Amino acid sequence: MRLLPILLFLIVVVVLLLPLVSRIRLSAPPARRPLSDELVKDPVCQTYIVKSRAVRRTESGQVRYFCSEQCARRDTGA
Ligand SMILES: [Zn+2]
Repeated sequence: MRLLPILLFLIVVVVLLLPLVSRIRLSAPPARRPLSDELVKDPVCQTYIVKSRAVRRTESGQVRYFCSEQCARRDTGA
């Protein structure tokens, strides 16, 4: 049989390459995370919310984050 050495060679190649591929996949995700997981404080009700879900208001150049549209309105009204 001539196939056996070829098969063995393929197995060795796969075993050697798999760790490299998984390392490349693992090293990719961290760059995506920071923005969505950041917590911000609602100045009206003092609650912490995830930045990506917060209601955003820009006031005199400063960005403020609120848990809801209600809190955002209360802050600008005061
Ligand atoms: Zn709030």
